[in-house]
Amino acid sequence: MTKSHTLTIARTIDDLRAITKAWRQKGETYAMVPTMGALHAGHLSLVEQAESMADHVLVSIFVNPAQFAPNEDFDSYPRTEEEDCKKLSSYRVGAVFCPNANEMYPSGFCTHVGLEGPAKGLESEFRPHFFQGVATIVTKLLLAAQPDIAIFGEKDFQQLRVIQQFSRDLNIPAKIVGGPTMREADGLAMSSRNAYLSEKERKEAVQLITIMRKTKDKIHGGMPCHSALDEGLADLKSQGFKPDYLSLNESESLTPIKAHTLTREQFGTCRLLAAAWLGKTRLIDNIEI
Ligand code: AMP
Repeated sequence: MTKSHTLTIARTIDDLRAITKAWRQKGETYAMVPTMGALHAGHLSLVEQAESMADHVLVSIFVNPAQFAPNEDFDSYPRTEEEDCKKLSSYRVGAVFCPNANEMYPSGFCTHVGLEGPAKGLESEFRPHFFQGVATIVTKLLLAAQPDIAIFGEKDFQQLRVIQQFSRDLNIPAKIVGGPTMREADGLAMSSRNAYLSEKERKEAVQLITIMRKTKDKIHGGMPCHSALDEGLADLKSQGFKPDYLSLNESESLTPIKAHTLTREQFGTCRLLAAAWLGKTRLIDNIEI
């Protein structure tokens, strides 16, 4: 059952703090779901999770320029605030924070969060600017809102691990919680960027998760990890993808697995992560191994 009510939209940090201060003064908890908008059922599953975990839900919508390189899709990234708010009005969302770039990065802004550990490798090799941009904006959002809980999708698994790591390292009080990846009926992970796919590419895109699942089965079946990964990369290429990586990593530290084969005890402790281009769209996905 869904119920509709009027949404409160805060555009400045001062307005946001007035809302959260009132909740805090009443001793009420709130969970935050940071997003870049163009909301789909994956985002909304995190909103539902937030509803179940706190008295209030706070959603932020901000397309963060700092996490896009100059050659990336910042300008074309879908911006659908009105539709997003309509979708959110069916949930128990106490406020939506929609700042503009000047509010988050006023002139003279010059501070960034530097990262090591799980931020090394994988996405960083192909998008070197990315995690510093994410960490800086997430830190700012969590300091501005000071939620009890902040929820991020496992869809962006490395991002989730990076946020958990720097939140712990910087003593950010919010509890960082992951939410499962929502998928289309055929298995493709939902993503705002799926909107870039042509009809033909959309049909082909499912091969990413299909090949990842096949790779998982091979590893579970005892095939040497490097052979399973090599075959997976070859399969991706033969299906028209240009893979950035297909990698088996330890789930917590995200260090690459060097073992020849996985033992039964290692099942459940590793993650298979992939990023691949299909035409002009970059898709990422991950599954537990
Ligand atoms: P984005 O708007 O793409 O920055 O995503 C906002 C949040 O939604 C991030 O925590 C993502 O990991 C999460 N998210 C994106 N796609 C999905 C999905 N298919 N299922 C669950 N969470 C998702």
